[in-house]
Amino acid sequence: LSTWSAVPAGPPDPILGITEAFKADTDSRKINLGVGAYRDENGKPYVLNAVKKAEEIITAAKLDKEYLPITGLASFTKNAAKLAYGAESVPLNQNAVAVTQAISGTGALRIGGAFLARHYPGAKAIYLPTPSWGNHKPLFMDSGLEVRQYRYFDKKTVGLDFAGLKEDLKNAPEGSIVLLHACAHNPTGVDPTQAQWAEISDVIAEKKLFPFFDMAYQGFASGSTDRDAFAVRHFVKQGHQVALAQSFAKNMGLYGERVGAFSLTTKDEEERKRVDSQIKIIVRPMYSNPPLHGAHIANTILSNPELYTVWEGEVKGMADRIISMRERLYELLTNGFQTPGEWGHIKSQIGMFSFTGLKTEQCKTLAEKAHVYMTMDGRISMAGLNGNNIEYFAESVDAAVK
Ligand code: PMP
Repeated sequence: LSTWSAVPAGPPDPILGITEAFKADTDSRKINLGVGAYRDENGKPYVLNAVKKAEEIITAAKLDKEYLPITGLASFTKNAAKLAYGAESVPLNQNAVAVTQAISGTGALRIGGAFLARHYPGAKAIYLPTPSWGNHKPLFMDSGLEVRQYRYFDKKTVGLDFAGLKEDLKNAPEGSIVLLHACAHNPTGVDPTQAQWAEISDVIAEKKLFPFFDMAYQGFASGSTDRDAFAVRHFVKQGHQVALAQSFAKNMGLYGERVGAFSLTTKDEEERKRVDSQIKIIVRPMYSNPPLHGAHIANTILSNPELYTVWEGEVKGMADRIISMRERLYELLTNGFQTPGEWGHIKSQIGMFSFTGLKTEQCKTLAEKAHVYMTMDGRISMAGLNGNNIEYFAESVDAAVK
């Protein structure tokens, strides 16, 4: 008898399972719209020029491989916080932002979950939007928080259920934690407007809720890192204390390098130091200290004005290519194939993903008949579309809908 004979087989990861099916498919027309990673106009992974140049600089500097401190590369975390909160940020300029390097966005969320589970003085319940990124729920449960939901997406309008969202936040027990996607909501591609963010900020203040921002796509929504940071900066300006998880996976294309940051805004420098010390106590027994290379890449880009300009252009280039694919797909479905249904949301949604409104059955048909792979909730990664495959994709959607 094996020690593990009672371990049941778990279900496969829904997104990575799609990649498996895609790889096994031998049809030349196959398209993978499942994974949320940017692809260039030839459907290939894209290493940013800013990243290549940063790596040249790092190689030439012949750095050693010593351990980083527990909270990571200090110059990187400082620059990451500046990118998110803005150079003018009051807590940042008062040395009142506690920040640690993290294992990309997921690791940042996990440190945040663990910190809140241990030190948050209110109810240890976190409200997630419905739907949310699939990893949020297990991640926060494993961190020791109770997971609840608030309304977010309205299937009827294929847009934001703003009334439902406000009602649910107003009905949440005072002091609850609320997870907010800072921009480019995954999986829906539906974000609140700036006016709606201002109202959400007011409700959160009124109910003394605690906002936890997940910012995995800064720059990817609008093409501007400043514009995409609106919600976080607005909340801080309104006097909220926030938690923030940042990822450099998408906006620098550093997926596998696992570069991210977690931060908390605090009252003043003295409080920041206490919070810092407790972040270290959480990180040390988890993984001791974070990896070196990716943090150096991101830091070189963020601290070198020339590379920063190159990077800004590339972020905009990625966002613009995605936006152009939205316009082309909308055109093809409405005027080209005259596919039944309303497709305006393809153009109005933003970020990496579009929630097409395709039903599970139609998604299955697309995979089986057309070799087009996506998640069964009808979400497609817009970055998987390009000039070579978009007509075939539109034609396949048309066939699946008709
Ligand atoms: N949050 C959201 C909403 C995401 O979509 C993702 C990536 N799919 C992440 C966090 C974390 O990604 P990573 O750990 O690769 O930075």
